[in-house]
This record gives sequence, structure tokens and C-alpha cells, in this order.
Amino acid sequence: MIEQCPYSTVCLPATNLPRLVVAGAGFAGINLIKKLKNKRFQIVLLDKNNYHKFQPLLYQVAIGGLEPDTITTPIRKLFHGYKNLIFRMAEVIEIEPENNRVITDIGWIRYDYFVLASGSKTNFFGLSEISETSLGLKEITEAIDIRSWMLQNLEKAVLTCDSDEKDALTNFVIVGAGPAGVELAGALAEFKRFILNKDYPELTSQWVKIFLVEAKDKVLPGMSERSSEEALKVLRDIGVEVMLNTTVKHYDGNTVTLGDGKNLPARMMVWTAGVEGDYPAGLHTSESTRAKRLIVDKYNRVNGFENIFAIGDVAAMVSPEFPNGHPMLAPVAIQQGRLLADNLIHFDKYGAFKKKFEYADRGSLATIGKRKAIAEIGKFRFRGFFAWVLWSTVHLFSLIGFKNKVIVSANWLISYMTYEKANRLIIRKYFPVLKPAHRQKTNRVTP
Ligand SMILES: Cc1cc2nc3c(=O)[nH]c(=O)nc-3n(C[C@H](O)[C@H](O)[C@H](O)COP(=O)(O)OP(=O)(O)OC[C@H]3O[C@@H](n4cnc5c(N)ncnc54)[C@H](O)[C@@H]3O)c2cc1C
Repeated sequence: MIEQCPYSTVCLPATNLPRLVVAGAGFAGINLIKKLKNKRFQIVLLDKNNYHKFQPLLYQVAIGGLEPDTITTPIRKLFHGYKNLIFRMAEVIEIEPENNRVITDIGWIRYDYFVLASGSKTNFFGLSEISETSLGLKEITEAIDIRSWMLQNLEKAVLTCDSDEKDALTNFVIVGAGPAGVELAGALAEFKRFILNKDYPELTSQWVKIFLVEAKDKVLPGMSERSSEEALKVLRDIGVEVMLNTTVKHYDGNTVTLGDGKNLPARMMVWTAGVEGDYPAGLHTSESTRAKRLIVDKYNRVNGFENIFAIGDVAAMVSPEFPNGHPMLAPVAIQQGRLLADNLIHFDKYGAFKKKFEYADRGSLATIGKRKAIAEIGKFRFRGFFAWVLWSTVHLFSLIGFKNKVIVSANWLISYMTYEKANRLIIRKYFPVLKPAHRQKTNRVTP
């Protein structure tokens, strides 16, 4: 039976069960729903895409190491056999807590419980020019665009005899030396070392330069001092030009202007310097942190609301141990999703939540190029090949779908033995935004 207005403008089966609307099929959303399979809720899952994406491997798509479909899974396929789940591809635009409904681009939907699992988006810190002229690394589409952008620039570089032009086309700038920036820089350096001279013999290694720009005084700021230092050494050893204590002020598509006024010619810049909570309008009374994450209590209930919850990157559970909320990592999202499912079942039966959230930190991992990684697990620290094997195993096991696991492991095995990255394809051209140059005089950085 199809539900009629006034309960919803989106056609949904009528139900006597409490309706749980979930926005976002990321790590948090899907782990919440898996624990609610065929339980006494009608779950309406909304996502603006029809797929779940595995963000930790986006950088491998960006450098042509993996095809996008190996790190994505169709949401409908994920939930085969779920009798209590309805998926609608829709973007939540606004929440109306006073009416218990969400406004989406396909209409509005009433809820009994609403869970925001909408993750985070790139934070450009108000630098609007940079948000137009550079690319972030949060979406599959961005990873594909970075791949095209890099390859297009190399194709253009072999056409020109103008050395300044060639220089700009082969300088790749990555801003932000967190795990995403470090992994992308390491992978690009590996591309330069093992593929460039075979694919582009005209471009000798003097041409392609990879700059990693970081405002702080270290790379991988979330890791220990020793791990940061080791990562910095590995990056420099493999040829990445790491610029610490350096900010980026402008980027017009041609020239990167650094905080000290120096200019760096570059036709490609990727911004991985920060993320912020991504949530729709309407939660007027709620509070948020500096990274625009919604403040939640120990049950992931958004402050000020009884039946609205936030889990994963979008939520900040502030405590003395985590004054800015938990780190924006997949394990936090997974654990919050699972616990909220238990709490909702309990709440619906007994009117009270079962358990407060406690984060079980299983450690951090980051890889830098091939066969090198850094792992911190409790008091233990690993680096080099063993850490890389650990990194590969964790990522392979976390990938969704048997087929994806097989394809990714085969890709890695081939790449491990041959250094080959087979997906160096410009399937869809990327058209970068170019702004009129904001400076006439160049005070160039000489690396
Ligand atoms: C490049 C990169 C590398 C990373 N590497 C690691 C790593 O190595 N280890 C690690 O633990 N973490 C890593 N992370 C972080 C990790 O991916 C996130 O912490 C995790 O994805 C958060 O899960 P989530 O469910 O909160 O959000 P997401 O996984 O971001 O999911 C949010 C979902 O909500 C949907 N959505 C957003 N807005 C709306 C809306 N308005 N309406 C409907 N749907 C919406 C999105 O389409 C998406 O499917 C990395 C992140 C990036 C970007």
C-alpha cells in the first residue's frame, strides 16, 4: 500500500512501525542499518548517490591505480534481503524538527527518528577562489577529475617547448599533509619514479615535481612525533618537496601564491587541508564545533533534539579526552552506527537507551608509496614493509563486496610486482577553472 499525503510527498509503503529516516550510506549509515536488518523499524535510507564509496582508497583512483567501481558498491545491492528497508536516491536539503519531517530534492518525508550520517565535505576555510580553482579529494567524481587533470597536463607538457609552461604543467601541488595528502603525494612520487619515463620519455625526471604544502610544522599531525618525522623522511627520500609551516593564500589555476608571498607555477592543485561536517539546513537550535560538526550527547542525540541523531564525521561527541569530538575516521563512524542501532532498538522497546558511546581506538595507519607505511597500534609502532602489509590487509578486509576485494588485491599484486598502474585513462576530460592572474610580478619558489 502506498502512503498518501499528509504523511509524505514521496511514495512510500504505509507502515505501523516507527519510521527511521537515515541520511547517508557511508560507513556510519550502512553499519547502523546492518544491525537493524528486519527489526521493528521501517528504515528509509536516503543518499544523494546510489553507491557507497570507500574513501580511504580514493587517492588510488586519482592516480590511476584503481578503477572507481572497485571502491564503490551500489546501495541497493548492499541491502538485498532487507525487508524493512526502502532506499531512495535523494539529497536531504532541510530538516523541519517541529514537523518531524525532512525536505529532500524528491519531496518531503515524515520521520519518527531521523539519523544524520551525511559525513563531511572539503573545508576551504572560506577561500572561495581556491574552492573553484582546485579540487578536493572527497568524492569519486573528484578522484576521476584529478586523474584526468594530471594526465591532461602531462599530455600538454609534451607538446610545449616553452620551459616555463612545461614547468607549470608538470608541477603538482597538494595542500594538506594529513593522511589523504601524504598518501596522494606518495602515490604521485611513485608514479613519477616508475611510470613517467616509460609513458612520457620526453619528460625527464627534472620536470615532474610534487609539492606537499602544510601549514603545521609536521606531516601526519594526528600521529606521534616519531611517526611524523619518519613519514617526512620517507616523503623526502622518494622525491616529494614537503613545505612545512607554509600556507596557500591564492590559486588562480596557474600560480599558487604562498602565505609568504612567494609564487609557485602549477596547473594542478589538490586541496586536502581540511574537512567540515556536511549537514542540511534547519537545525537552528543545535550547536556545532569549529569544524561545523553537530554536537551530540553520549547516545549520538543532536543537542536540543529528542529524536534526531548524528553519527560519524558529521557528529562531534565532545569530552575532555576529545575536546573537538572524535577523529573523523571510518572506525568511529562504524562504531557509532552499530551502537546507535542497539540504542534505538532498546529505546523503542523500553523508552531508554542501552549504552553510552566509548571509542575503541584500534590505531592509525598511513601508506607512503609502495611497500612503505606507518602504523600505530596502542603503544606499538611499525613502519616499512610490515606496516604496509598491515595497511593492505586492513583496507582489503574493509572493502565491501567479494568482487571488489578480489579485483583490488589482483591490482595491488600486479602493481607490486610490476609497478604498473593500468588505469591511466582520460575517460572524461576535466576543464579546470582559470582566474585572471592576481599578481603581475612573480617571486618564484626555487625548489
Ligand atoms: C581521501 C580520504 C582518505 C581517508 N582515509 C582514511 C583512512 O585511511 N582511515 C580512516 O579510518 N578514515 C579515512 N578517511 C575518513 C573516512 O573516510 C571518514 O571518516 C568516513 O567516511 C566517515 O563516515 P561517514 O559515514 O560519517 O561519512 P561518509 O562515509 O562520508 O558518508 C556520508 C554519506 O552521506 C551522503 N550524503 C551527504 N550529504 C547528504 C545529503 N544532504 N543527503 C543525502 N545523502 C547525503 C554521501 O553521499 C555519503 O554517501 C579518509 C577520508 C578521505 C576523504
